[in-house]
Amino acid sequence: MSMSLDSHIEKVLWTQDQILDRVAQIASQITLDFKAAPDPPLFVGVATGAFLFLADLVKKVQLPLSVDLVRAQSYGSGTLSNGAPSISLDLKLDVKGKHVILVEDIVDTGCTLSCLIEHLEAKGVSSVSICAFLDKPMRRKVHIKLVGDGKFYKGFECPDYFVVGYGMDFAELYRNLPYIGVLKSEFYK
Ligand code: 5GP
Ligand code: MG
Ligand code: MG
Repeated sequence: MSMSLDSHIEKVLWTQDQILDRVAQIASQITLDFKAAPDPPLFVGVATGAFLFLADLVKKVQLPLSVDLVRAQSYGSGTLSNGAPSISLDLKLDVKGKHVILVEDIVDTGCTLSCLIEHLEAKGVSSVSICAFLDKPMRRKVHIKLVGDGKFYKGFECPDYFVVGYGMDFAELYRNLPYIGVLKSEFYK
């Protein structure tokens, strides 16, 4: 199993250059949308998958801002989640009255984000926007309800493959790939 990392990949869907171009575009849009806001937005990354996207994104946003992390556990394994996530790492910061931008690697059924949005709403946030690098709209099971005047930012629509890289794992591997791809079938085990 110890061949080079790249040799595990069947095909690349987005290269590192394509990813970074798109991240810069989203960051410009967020900068525009939030520059008139009375206080700095709070970027909340959903661990672990969003860690690279969060890091690249906030470096490109030309505004004062805060960063925090949250973790939602859904007790599925492999390539399927079971649709009932719970919060396993809560925010460090007080989010009451804040404009929160939830940063996710990929939206699939929408269960994880819906759960997190409810959690933030209960804490009295002013708005919740979503910034998801990938979206699989064809797989949605629950409607994602934004809070206040929150917006939905997305990088790319993802075809119905289980993808890895740019923070996303299979069995906790492949998060360090700087691009997004699909594994060779022999490695989905
Ligand atoms: P949802 O709750 O929307 O069904 O799933 C969201 C989470 O499932 C994502 O944050 C991600 O961790 C995981 N997920 C969904 N689709 C994929 C995929 O294609 N690849 C990987 N690596 N994780 C995925
Ligand atoms: Mg995630
Ligand atoms: Mg995962």
